[in-house]
Amino acid sequence: MTIRIKKGQANKLLLNQVKNMSGVDLDACYQCKKCSCGCTVSGHVQSPPSELIRRLQLGAGDELLENDLIWTCVSCETCFARCPMGIDMVSVMDALRTLAIEKKAIIPEGNVPLFNSAFLKTVKIFGRTYDLALMTAYKIGTSSYLRDTDKLPIIMKKKKIALLPSLGANRKTVRRIFKKTRQNKGRLK
Ligand code: SF4
Ligand code: SF4
Repeated sequence: MTIRIKKGQANKLLLNQVKNMSGVDLDACYQCKKCSCGCTVSGHVQSPPSELIRRLQLGAGDELLENDLIWTCVSCETCFARCPMGIDMVSVMDALRTLAIEKKAIIPEGNVPLFNSAFLKTVKIFGRTYDLALMTAYKIGTSSYLRDTDKLPIIMKKKKIALLPSLGANRKTVRRIFKKTRQNKGRLK
């Protein structure tokens, strides 16, 4: 693996931002690559997780925010479970996604960011995920109103999706978490 960092860009600003936002000590990574060997999606992306960390360590700039792993990662935590240094890659990916949106990085084609945003909005409103609202928001966003609707009767019959949002969710606490996260993000900038 040859990693090229553009001259003059190696200032570690992005590394420090990711460290602050994720709370992960990325300097602890010693490139054993156990994360990449077990990564669910590493065969389908430009850079496996260990390479992404190495690029950050070497001082990659905002061009790294266009890496497709950031949006292809499915947060399965396999890398975290395998890492001898306890590097929490899911938190790192969350930080990179947030920075990619904030800095208006070119996001790879596909509807992952839209799904991500629809998911977070439903959690914020209903206190936990509410599949019907998530599906509706996603379909409106992609203008794919009729796609896969033939499966809906079977899904409903098997009670895989609830008609109403969960009553047990503590909405006030969840909204407080969102508010606190927004305030913390403001402080870290
Ligand atoms: S498993 Fe952990 S220490 Fe090894 S390369 Fe991946 S992040 Fe770094
Ligand atoms: S959490 Fe993401 S980076 Fe880690 S193994 Fe899963 S898909 Fe790969």
